Amino acid sequence: MNQYDVIIVGAGPAGMSAAVYAARAELNTLMVDFGEPGGQINGTNVVQNYIGVGSISGSALGYRMFQHTRQLKVPFQKKKVVKIEAGEPLHRVYMEGEEEPYLTRSIILAIGTTPKSLHVENEEKFSRKGISWCAICDGAQYAGKDVIVIGGGNSGVKESLFLSNIVTSLTMLTNYDLTADEVAIRQLKSKTNVQILTYQNILGFVGEEKLEGVRTLDTKSGQEQVIPCAGVFEYIGLDPHTNFLHGLHIMNHQGYIVVNPSMETSIPGIYGAGDCTVKDLRQVVTACSDGAIAAQNASHYLRKHGL
Ligand SMILES: Cc1cc2nc3c(=O)[nH]c(=O)nc-3n(C[C@H](O)[C@H](O)[C@H](O)COP(=O)(O)OP(=O)(O)OC[C@H]3O[C@@H](n4cnc5c(N)ncnc54)[C@H](O)[C@@H]3O)c2cc1C
Repeated sequence: MNQYDVIIVGAGPAGMSAAVYAARAELNTLMVDFGEPGGQINGTNVVQNYIGVGSISGSALGYRMFQHTRQLKVPFQKKKVVKIEAGEPLHRVYMEGEEEPYLTRSIILAIGTTPKSLHVENEEKFSRKGISWCAICDGAQYAGKDVIVIGGGNSGVKESLFLSNIVTSLTMLTNYDLTADEVAIRQLKSKTNVQILTYQNILGFVGEEKLEGVRTLDTKSGQEQVIPCAGVFEYIGLDPHTNFLHGLHIMNHQGYIVVNPSMETSIPGIYGAGDCTVKDLRQVVTACSDGAIAAQNASHYLRKHGL
């Protein structure tokens, strides 16, 4: 039976940072992820605010982080965790398609978030067939075309800057004002092929065979219109990946894992780290910080309890 000191669920920045600290504390560690190591940054064109690195593509940063865990010989398995049973002193971690659970003395949940959808008319019909949640993955398909970006937070504005270099025109739609940081907003506003329409409610998507436009309601003027486009990118926020944890009662009402400053959940030996936790700023730098703290405290916990 597989038994570990710590199982790290998720190989995004938080999980990989935790892996580095766990390995250096000489914990018998397993890191798992159902996707490629890197997490959400794999889907971003450029990361420019991770201290000490300058400007780097998201996938290159993810690769570097993963290489770091490989140098420290942290075992990685491509697996999806579908259930966790808390125990004393061993927790049980169930992987998709496997009957026997993995036993572990501690768990670091670094499972990140997934992009939100609008749940409006025809969104499902055009999902990934005109509507995308990843500019770096799908942006090239819209070279020389008109696109709409929905959402004016940091992700929406940053990915619009990338897309604006590819597409003929980009219309950004936001339900209120832009909420991204000032530097990014200024850069976007300086682009000649970008128009920004604020106070727009998205009513649905329009098209027969393929996506032809977005139906909007201007909440200031009360006017409805269809804005034509070949593609849409949605950046309207995130939902935590925590559905499979419901039995543990460690989340708040929005599904985010509640942790204290030591990254401890209410269950001894189970930690949360990164975007899946209740926090103010969901970024690479804060995810890495959380992962380090979680692994350090998992190590202290194991030593203190002689596990
Ligand atoms: C478009 C976009 C642009 C961004 N740009 C920047 C930027 O420029 N700078 C910056 O600092 N931040 C940026 N961010 C935010 C940054 O990507 C996140 O803050 C960071 O990736 C969070 O890391 P994490 O490890 O907590 O979660 P994630 O990166 O989400 O990683 C979580 C991992 O857990 C895995 N997982 C989830 N559930 C399970 C399960 N049940 N079993 C196994 N594995 C599981 C997922 O597959 C995923 O790989 C951006 C985000 C987006 C969406």
